[in-house]
Amino acid sequence: MRVSKLFTKTLKNAPADEVAKNAQLLIRGGYIHKEMAGVYTYLPLGKRVLEKVMQIVREEMNTVGGNEISLTALQHKDVWEASGRWSDEVLDVWFKTKLANGTELGLAPTHEEPLTKLMKNYISSYKDLPVYPYQFQIKFRNELRSKSGLMRGREFWMKDLYSFSRDQAQHDEFYEKISEAYDHVYERLGIGDITYKTFASGGSFSKYSHEFQTLSEVGEDIIYVHEGKKIAINEEVYNDEVLADLGLSKDELVEKKAVEVGNIFTLSTKFSDALDLNYTDESGASQRVFMGSYGIGPSRVMGLLAEHFADDKGLVWLVNIAPYTVYLVSIGEKGSAEADKLYEELTGMGIEVLYDDRDERPGAKFADAELLGIPYRVTVSDRLVESGEFELVQRVDGAQETLTHEALVDRLKQL
Ligand code: ATP
Ligand code: MG
Repeated sequence: MRVSKLFTKTLKNAPADEVAKNAQLLIRGGYIHKEMAGVYTYLPLGKRVLEKVMQIVREEMNTVGGNEISLTALQHKDVWEASGRWSDEVLDVWFKTKLANGTELGLAPTHEEPLTKLMKNYISSYKDLPVYPYQFQIKFRNELRSKSGLMRGREFWMKDLYSFSRDQAQHDEFYEKISEAYDHVYERLGIGDITYKTFASGGSFSKYSHEFQTLSEVGEDIIYVHEGKKIAINEEVYNDEVLADLGLSKDELVEKKAVEVGNIFTLSTKFSDALDLNYTDESGASQRVFMGSYGIGPSRVMGLLAEHFADDKGLVWLVNIAPYTVYLVSIGEKGSAEADKLYEELTGMGIEVLYDDRDERPGAKFADAELLGIPYRVTVSDRLVESGEFELVQRVDGAQETLTHEALVDRLKQL
């Protein structure tokens, strides 16, 4: 992509009412636009980052047998009345609306009910189970406070996978498998070392659920971390009984602030009871389907990554999350001619290049490269063209090298 063709521009300042660092940086970089508190538009660069996060999640969900679908955001109230969750007292984050004839609709804050109902069309025999539909979908939640930028949206992206199993044993096997898939997701996102599988309340269906909590000073959750065992306990279930249960003692645990980047949950037959989702077992008897739900927040993850991978000059994306790998800067007339050629060559090799072809001061181009956080900056100037060289600078540590054309291409190929 040529910067001259990108309709967004970098900004000196974020809106005064934006208090979250992640949103400030992303807005200044032109990654996102703030519509209102907790509601953000993804602009071209932001859309690319979001897609990269989602693609990592997608690959890991497909590995454990996920079937990707896309459910509707508009929901009839009936299906939610069946579970008791249409009530604003039970689910306090609803956005509701009406058809012209008065029929009430809700904008889905999650999808257990509609998916359970949908699956009645496809599940009837034990041979149909297990099955793991999932989606990436915008959820609507009227969150009380929405001051954490992308990390707490009123409209946000969620990956939600639901498991439909024959019984608890089949469920438990999958639960362990997807827990490992979650570990892979966070490792690939570059936050594996600071993300803890955390014991949390299991609701009324199981003793625990598990949250994946990433340590962060801006986190809204408090967890108690066991660094050696790489597990944690959410403060909501931090008590003597749970400690005994897990064989942990208070003096081994450290209190930390964290962001919930995902969770896995045993639902048991709560929703199959409510919506009458059954299958016929091998003996011909009717059984309830056993369910689980598994969320990850790609928008929240993107906010967290922006918050975590940043310095005083701007964002510092890892290569696999960055919207582009290389920020190509041309300086001067000969530099521009050479940069044009290099841009074609690198993009032809499948390297993702953001080419700053604007007629701007070098300092302004460098500052944008830094604010945007593109991992590698390549500079082609009149002076460098004369010596047949290219300058390569790494965003993460500012390390600078001068390379021949061949050496440069070799280096970038390896990324
Ligand atoms: P929280 O306790 O932070 O409100 P939650 O328990 O309501 O989260 P779930 O309903 O389980 O979250 O949603 C699954 C995932 O979606 C969460 O793990 C989180 O990553 C993400 N998520 C939840 N709420 C939001 C939000 N308002 N904005 C962005 N992401 C969210
Ligand atoms: Mg919530």
